[in-house]
Amino acid sequence: MSSLYLHIPFCEHKCIYCDFYSVAPNGSADAYSALVQRFLDSLKKEVDVRSGDERFQVPYETIFFGGGTPSLLALSEIKEILNLLSTRFQVLSGAEITLETNPGTVDIEKLRQFKAAGVNRISMGIQSFHDDDLKFLSRIHSAEQAKECVRNAYQAGFDNVSFDLIFALPSQTRERWRSNLEQAMELAPKHISTYSLIVEPNTPLHRMVESKQVMPLSAEADAELYEFTIDFLASHGYEQYEVSNFAQPGYKSRHNGNYWNHSNYLGFGPSAHSFWERQRWWNVANVVEYSTRLEQHVLPVAGDERLNVDQLRNEELFLGLRSEGVDIAGFRKRYDTDLFATHRQTIEHLLNERLAVLHDDRFKLTAKGYPLCDEICASFLI
Ligand code: SF4
Repeated sequence: MSSLYLHIPFCEHKCIYCDFYSVAPNGSADAYSALVQRFLDSLKKEVDVRSGDERFQVPYETIFFGGGTPSLLALSEIKEILNLLSTRFQVLSGAEITLETNPGTVDIEKLRQFKAAGVNRISMGIQSFHDDDLKFLSRIHSAEQAKECVRNAYQAGFDNVSFDLIFALPSQTRERWRSNLEQAMELAPKHISTYSLIVEPNTPLHRMVESKQVMPLSAEADAELYEFTIDFLASHGYEQYEVSNFAQPGYKSRHNGNYWNHSNYLGFGPSAHSFWERQRWWNVANVVEYSTRLEQHVLPVAGDERLNVDQLRNEELFLGLRSEGVDIAGFRKRYDTDLFATHRQTIEHLLNERLAVLHDDRFKLTAKGYPLCDEICASFLI
């Protein structure tokens, strides 16, 4: 099944660690509103142009508003985008519609309105339940606001709520991270995505590390917290179905699942990526250039690539190892490659060490294997 992604490139403020493309107000409020409007008009043009291509007239089972901070958009704007998508594409009834939500940007009324507009999954950027962590990360909300936002989401009728949490903050101890997870459990999210803090190039955090103002956690401590997280969440009923993602039964993200099982997806908005059959393309990561191109009736594509069979096969293998495993028979059929013949020793070693299991002809990493996913993928390079 296929998916639609919308990149909403606006944030109230740029967090020090973030390298996703987005812009924050930096001048007059009127100029910023005009930019948002210009972007929205351009987004509609992009949807119109892409929907005119017959290849893309297939059923879609998920829509994901990411960013940036899509929850900054007004209800009318979200509604307009959803209406446009359902008139231009075959959006299935029962489609998973996710809105990334920053707890500092919505109240219960806005959440109720999003729900009424058709959003049925909230992915909440909480990151930490400690105010000093949030301050360090330069988030715009407090821990209490985040909790209040979760309670509001439940009251607004959302059942499918996911939390984003960040671990491996400088000098973070296991006890402190445990307290974060325990506070998350009190709020009973259906899904948790948790990532270690990465020092991305060209971010304020990177400059803070370079100038020794901040000392990152060691790789060993980071790995220890990750392994602790896997055990903790498993003991609280969350199934790990990807390196960084955990869900209660029935609540895996269908949208992300489509990325990981190599399904087709169309991305709209600056910096959005698309994948269709063997072709991948990505948009310019600049909202002004994005809008200018569309105003000139030119697609805002910055680059593309067509994967050859070897690239496709390796990607499918690595995506499978990162997530729900590799379907051995399907892999053999699609690529004429018998993994047991090409990688017998590696596979036997992983099975013997309980780093992977073979179940229903699916070869899948275990909780012990996920932390070594990168090394394991490297050992499979064909
Ligand atoms: S709110 Fe999200 S997208 Fe925006 S700067 Fe912070 S982490 Fe990045």
